[in-house]
Amino acid sequence: MNPKKKKGWKEIPMAGVCWVPSTSYLTGDWKTYRPVWDSEKCTRCVLCHLFCPDGAITWKAQTNEMIFNYDYCKGCGICEAECPVDAISMKLEGEP
Ligand code: SF4
Ligand code: SF4
Repeated sequence: MNPKKKKGWKEIPMAGVCWVPSTSYLTGDWKTYRPVWDSEKCTRCVLCHLFCPDGAITWKAQTNEMIFNYDYCKGCGICEAECPVDAISMKLEGEP
């Protein structure tokens, strides 16, 4: 067998699956870094909301704020990388 040839999906062994829905299994405590939002720099373009793989960012119309749900944020940093105006910075958990 050619070791460089990629396996098809039928050849890949089954992985473990968590049967508990993420609504009853908070995933936010996995993170090492947390996103910190700068309301002054933010233009409310909502790109961070669209890019967050965990649906952990929402826009609150009443207050015009981006809300980060740290119960589900995994600290991946995608929101920081995608924000066009650097309004999000990743800080170590426990850092002020
Ligand atoms: S991507 Fe940046 S500028 Fe856009 S809403 Fe999010 S924090 Fe604000
Ligand atoms: S760090 Fe990752 S999981 Fe957390 S809010 Fe940003 S994009 Fe979502």
